[in-house]
Amino acid sequence: MTPIIVLVVEDQESIRRFLRVSLAGAGHRVLEAGTAATALRMAAESPPDLVILDLGLPDRDGFEVLRGFRTWSQAPVIVLSARDGEADKVAALDAGADDYVTKPFGVGELHARMRSALRHRSPGPGADAIVADRLRIDAGARRVTVDGTEIHLTPLEYKLLLTLARSPGRVLTHRVLLREVWGPDATQEVHYLRVFVASLRRKIEADPTRPRLIVTEPGVGYRFADV
Ligand code: CA
Repeated sequence: MTPIIVLVVEDQESIRRFLRVSLAGAGHRVLEAGTAATALRMAAESPPDLVILDLGLPDRDGFEVLRGFRTWSQAPVIVLSARDGEADKVAALDAGADDYVTKPFGVGELHARMRSALRHRSPGPGADAIVADRLRIDAGARRVTVDGTEIHLTPLEYKLLLTLARSPGRVLTHRVLLREVWGPDATQEVHYLRVFVASLRRKIEADPTRPRLIVTEPGVGYRFADV
């Protein structure tokens, strides 16, 4: 990954130190803030390329930092979240965060999330074919193959698969998927997703009971494989 400026917003000194060491070790320039007020001031002074944001801050809610930052920057924001914080994860993604990692997390996972988030923010030339493992989607021809054999998808299955596959490695919330595939009136119909994801998995996964291409993020949404 090319070195970038990362703003770490976290009040817990031990986690900040862990992030500082691992990010600086990878060559990134690290800015640190322990409060929401410091974070917003630092972001304005030295605009970061990526923000790692804890939601539980001593002075103000992390969501306020996210919303404030989003009014002027589109740089990726990765939220640090507690293990049982599904509602917070969904709210953060809906408020413009790109992804989250759940505490405790490892360096490998964090770097993978950073790569996905940065890639998503700067898409390469509009690649027409998406390849993931044994799956190939030719968006132009509207053709999907598994191990070279064409498979038949219904229009909604195809739309759902393409929506997921266009953001590899990135979690998409139930609300986002329902809005993209079924439209703005369907954002509460989570059971549509369960049914269609199950039928897609039967068609594209080697073992639908152990999916590798469409991964469930419990209580949040789905993530397409980053392969
Ligand atoms: Ca905290």
